[in-house]
Amino acid sequence: MTSPILLAIEDLTVSFDGFKAVDGLNLYVERNEVRVVIGPNGAGKTTLLDLICGKTRASSGSIMFKNTELTKLAENQIVKAGVGRKFQTPSIYENLTVRENLQLSYPGGRTVFGSLFFKVTEKVTERVREVAGEIFLSDKLETSAGLLSHGQKQWLEIGMLLIQDPELLMLDEPVAGMSVSEREATADLLRRISNNRSVIVIEHDMDFVKDIANKVTVLHQGKLLAEGKMEDVQNNEKVIEVYLGH
Ligand code: ADP
Repeated sequence: MTSPILLAIEDLTVSFDGFKAVDGLNLYVERNEVRVVIGPNGAGKTTLLDLICGKTRASSGSIMFKNTELTKLAENQIVKAGVGRKFQTPSIYENLTVRENLQLSYPGGRTVFGSLFFKVTEKVTERVREVAGEIFLSDKLETSAGLLSHGQKQWLEIGMLLIQDPELLMLDEPVAGMSVSEREATADLLRRISNNRSVIVIEHDMDFVKDIANKVTVLHQGKLLAEGKMEDVQNNEKVIEVYLGH
């Protein structure tokens, strides 16, 4: 039987000049789960995602993704293993169309893009169409990415990850700066994405957290402060204390 756990983080620590930004963390993410990581500024949320995607090297501990130990792998190998990461600022190509942005993100697309040998097969075209539909951009395929709204740019970047079919998708504040309707659409998108993959989201907007989280992890000073359903975490005294600063 396939294990319900997709990502198992054990005793993970990273020190910067003796300062532990992540300190002995244990975290288990199940398949088809939307996990939201919250915590005050400096809690270690971004560093945690950096460790998972290989941008930062762990000082000690383990990050098992299915049967693969990620702490030993380079960033591109982690992507290949099935982990996608979206940063807060969109890294799309503004001068290219939505279609071109999606095409070059298709596995293998980036290395051959622009070369005479790049062949956009029917399979690629079909997948681009499918993903554009998922991210609400079906009618924007021929539009320059630079002309999209802020929210649409965020969706395009999510699409650029989806087209690589990751089993784990990590998003850093995906709805920051979005309108109310864009937020609702994004919540819907994330729920759909999690039908067949797991999502880890760093988020400050508590209404949005309530809307999407299966489970919430609260970090404080690099350590796990609380974990569970949003209702439970919200009423946890330690969490209230940290957020209210008593
Ligand atoms: P959060 O995302 O929860 O706001 P971060 O993960 O960005 O927190 O940062 C956690 C702590 O680690 C902060 O005190 C930050 O200054 C420190 N930190 C993060 N990255 C580095 C780094 N590369 N070098 C030194 N300190 C760092």
